[in-house]
Amino acid sequence: MADPSAADPSMADAGPLKERIRAAARAAGFDQVGFAPAAPPTHAEVYEAWLAKGYHGEMAYMAREDAVRRRLDPREALPGCRTLVVVSLLYGPEPVAPPSKRRLPVVARYALGRDYHDVFEERLDALSAAIENLAPGARTKRYVDYGPVLERDHAQRAGLGWIGKNTMLLHPDLGSYFMLGELLTDLEIEPDPPFVHDRCGTCRRCIDACPTDAILDGRVLDARLCISYLTIELRGSIPEALRPAIGNRVFGCDICQEVCPWNSEAPSPARAPFEPQPGQPMPPEDMVAWAEELAPLDADAFRARYRGTAFSRPGRDGLLRNLAVGLGNAGRPAARPVLRRLAEDPSPLVREHARWALGVLQG
Ligand code: SF4
Repeated sequence: MADPSAADPSMADAGPLKERIRAAARAAGFDQVGFAPAAPPTHAEVYEAWLAKGYHGEMAYMAREDAVRRRLDPREALPGCRTLVVVSLLYGPEPVAPPSKRRLPVVARYALGRDYHDVFEERLDALSAAIENLAPGARTKRYVDYGPVLERDHAQRAGLGWIGKNTMLLHPDLGSYFMLGELLTDLEIEPDPPFVHDRCGTCRRCIDACPTDAILDGRVLDARLCISYLTIELRGSIPEALRPAIGNRVFGCDICQEVCPWNSEAPSPARAPFEPQPGQPMPPEDMVAWAEELAPLDADAFRARYRGTAFSRPGRDGLLRNLAVGLGNAGRPAARPVLRRLAEDPSPLVREHARWALGVLQG
């Protein structure tokens, strides 16, 4: 693992510890760096109300008592924690397949390449090693979004942006096409000023544009209706009433980011942080071709092929479920042969969605 302090010789004289850690984070490849106090999150009550209403859907890990406790206080995640170093990686607004082209699968922008969790883990480990060099004995613990940390809340407190009505973190110069990670540490570091402005104003484009009405007033997302949840996190059947609104979005959704005016001039990173590794598969540019590629794979063969990519999250059956919905919505007769094959698939989940899609095609 590269040692960022070694990569940047000027760091040895870079002033107070805080600025040296900031320089180390930049040397590790992060775009934004901020420091937040290890205090209970400002939006703790909002989060508890969100859970109480069941908006987290099947993501039971979010409601587990120990996870909630740690989300409500970072010191539960790292005893003695005093500071969160919050970092971001910009992945940029590069266009993906336009949803108007009905044969194309639309996938979330961040998914075209390496799994961002792996990239964050590598870079957070590099930052952790740098901190160990700068402050021997300091303890650190890393989190990406699977961990029990209310990351947007801490990011706002670290000055990285505001939480928009679409519940994403937004920055006036960067938009929202970035991912967050955190390094918890027991070092006492002066926090950065929080981002206190709400730049959404009277705008509600994301609320109006969401095809499944998942964004509620009060900066609340009903994950059970969100296309990202339905196509990535949900393990079971996609509710039939929601399938038409999904269109050809077969992995995630960026609609609430695409319509946001703060993203109209969002910058792209000089080098895409989640660039595919050599040999990594990219989704075929046709839903029929993708479904034909996946249909003969069993779970192990799928894992071997898509290891290290975000597509491993829904797995073979989840992706074929999503493709069946996309193919039904696209209404192309060319999809019938592969849908007939999927209608006899070993997976009941895939069979059910393929039969639904054939029904849609038959009108
Ligand atoms: Fe805020 Fe408008 Fe962007 Fe939604 S679309 S996050 S309301 S600025």
